[in-house]
Amino acid sequence: MPSSPRPAPRGGSRPSSRPTSPPESAAASASGLVSGDWRRRVAAAAREALSVVSPVSCAGCGATDVPLCPACGDRLVPAVTRTDLPDGLAVFSGLVYAFEVRGVVLAFKNGGRVRLADPLAPALGAALEACGRAVAAETAGGPSVPDLDLLVVTVPPSRRGRRRRGYDPVALLVRRLGLGAGARVLVPTARARGGQKGRDRLQRQRGREGSLRCTRDLTGRFVVVVDDVVTTGSTLQEARRALRARGAVVVGAACLATTPLRSASARR
Ligand SMILES: [Zn+2]
Repeated sequence: MPSSPRPAPRGGSRPSSRPTSPPESAAASASGLVSGDWRRRVAAAAREALSVVSPVSCAGCGATDVPLCPACGDRLVPAVTRTDLPDGLAVFSGLVYAFEVRGVVLAFKNGGRVRLADPLAPALGAALEACGRAVAAETAGGPSVPDLDLLVVTVPPSRRGRRRRGYDPVALLVRRLGLGAGARVLVPTARARGGQKGRDRLQRQRGREGSLRCTRDLTGRFVVVVDDVVTTGSTLQEARRALRARGAVVVGAACLATTPLRSASARR
């Protein structure tokens, strides 16, 4: 977790008579990083405020004067599906990414409507719970879930995505669930490329390979990977590769939503 920024000094700017010593210039560059962080936060808060001040419409269906209408809210009630990727990774998803749900997820992910994290978080929570239950069932006779001490690790946004949005939607959902642990365990590498839209599974997988790096030694740790929308699963597979490279045992994945094609072949 990044350290919280220090409050601005009272009384405006620093007296100009104070000499600038090397420690101070180090502090200045650190505060530069902090103010960058503030800019991102303010931009995100402004977008959030705009969504309230300007005429608001339902993120799902466009109905006026309400950020989320009751009918679209009902569509966010979790209905968990399970899909097993070809390499055996079990993926649990709380919603199907279609129609109004797609609209709400896109407004949250790309439209700056960060308050939608509240109505969306339960779907991810349900997916995580189902994943935990499956792990427990598959290790019957072995350790129980609390003893497994599952570490929740989020898939990070691409560098470009983070710059564009100013926030990390997946991390926001995980925080709403009171799970802060796995932030910044995975980071995008310089090799990460955006624009996976329209590519098939193999093309996506090739495009993703080497795009994530694990920042910690996770030898022997049991990990659940968390992402927002699963399409072909190539991002989750890349996350597993990066985590395994640092010794983690990836027991499953939990996602907010899955595309309809995937859920059609899903096992409940
Ligand atoms: Zn609606």
